[in-house]
Amino acid sequence: MNKYVPITRKYRPQTFAAVCHQDAAVTTLKNALKSGRVAQSYLFSGIRGTGKTTLARLLAKALNCENLSSEVEPCNQCRSCQEINSGNALDVIEIDGASNRGIDDIRQINETVGYAPSGSKWKIYIIDEVHMLTKEAFNALLKTLEEPPPRVKFFFATTEPHKVLPTILSRCQRFDLSRLNQDSIVLKLRSIAEDIDRTAEPSALDLIAQLADGSMRDAESLFDQITCFDNGPITHTLVQNMLGLAPRALFFELDTAVKDHNLAKAFDLVQTIFDSGKDLKHFLDHLIHHYRLILRLHLGQRGLLGALPSDERTGYENALTIYTHHHCLDILDYLVQWLQQIPSSPFKRIDLEMTLLFIIRIKQRIPFDNLIERLNQLEDKVPLEPVVITQAARAPEPVEEKEPSLAPVATKPELAPIATPKLESLSKEKPIQEPAPQVAALSQAEHEPVEAPKLESSIIQAPSEMEKPSVHQSHYDTLMRFAAVELNGSIKS
Ligand SMILES: [Zn+2]
Repeated sequence: MNKYVPITRKYRPQTFAAVCHQDAAVTTLKNALKSGRVAQSYLFSGIRGTGKTTLARLLAKALNCENLSSEVEPCNQCRSCQEINSGNALDVIEIDGASNRGIDDIRQINETVGYAPSGSKWKIYIIDEVHMLTKEAFNALLKTLEEPPPRVKFFFATTEPHKVLPTILSRCQRFDLSRLNQDSIVLKLRSIAEDIDRTAEPSALDLIAQLADGSMRDAESLFDQITCFDNGPITHTLVQNMLGLAPRALFFELDTAVKDHNLAKAFDLVQTIFDSGKDLKHFLDHLIHHYRLILRLHLGQRGLLGALPSDERTGYENALTIYTHHHCLDILDYLVQWLQQIPSSPFKRIDLEMTLLFIIRIKQRIPFDNLIERLNQLEDKVPLEPVVITQAARAPEPVEEKEPSLAPVATKPELAPIATPKLESLSKEKPIQEPAPQVAALSQAEHEPVEAPKLESSIIQAPSEMEKPSVHQSHYDTLMRFAAVELNGSIKS
């Protein structure tokens, strides 16, 4: 007979003391037990694997235990405790709200709720995923919750408390169980590893905890899967291979490509990822973690390096010299956006290539803040009342008559309207090397009926300096070209 018991069940907390990370709920429940003021109904909410059902069962055990300790811990030895542990208790009825969600299912509860418990102190209904009940079922339950028969208690568990009717919520004492932190998960995994006599690298346990995303059950399932796969020590590489994760070395290769501006590397890396059948979502998760770690190191959390194996520590020390924290922020912004698009994207490979290309080109991008700061500095240096060089500036005729399109620019030469998509046309039409675009524009304006008024609109200069461009003006022009390329016409006027 197969005696294998999954780790999630084998190491499920059997006492309040063994519950990880939910101190507030545990203390409140224990105090209620000590003072004999246990509420009629409780609602445990939280993400998967945070201990909702575990706490409901523990409370049921403690209420019905025949030898409750002075610390209100269930004995796990008496008939009631053993029946609950094995799932055979007649007086602790567990109902899955997802598959028993209709009014008829709740009617059955209503019909049996009046019968006294058979041999235990309390008759306890534990309804899991209670938010799945239909509205009619909730309403049918409401009456029973309002006036429950003596010696009956209801414990509800849900991952989505906002879907539970307010009338139900208001009749329950509610515990919002928090997501488990990485340290709690690692601690529990380490104790399990010791118990089953397996050695485990700290970074391997960290990786499992990271993947579990706050759920102890997920962490234990992954750990179980890995221990079944291999009988040797649990190493970081084993976890990576087992779960199809990209090795850290791949990210360090990307860092080097950024440093060398090696665009071709993007395609090589994507090829490697696809050839090895890595899960794209996992890869992206880890890419985000990679830049998140570099950002945190930049923000002064150098202690994080200590937890890494020596080769990775070197890799991250190197990465710190490649990226600034602005680079990390920009990359993280981009990756988080892309993460949301993955499920619907039909071109995942191309998307991934574009993402890596974006990262490799990150050092070529001028940060927005930088650009705006430089524009502001330049704005301060531009003459207070600049004049647009037009034909009108030379000829005595009024501007309105000959060049009506230029009039608003000439009379209102502010920078804001200049830094608009119009700039794009400037950068496209005139190469940067051209020494004096305003002169060309001027001569063009003399012979033609002004085909590109946008050009003139960006040329601002005091009349006295008309013939010879000032230093300010040439800087300004260059910056405007940068802005045009950088903004890519995305800012609306
Ligand atoms: Zn007991």
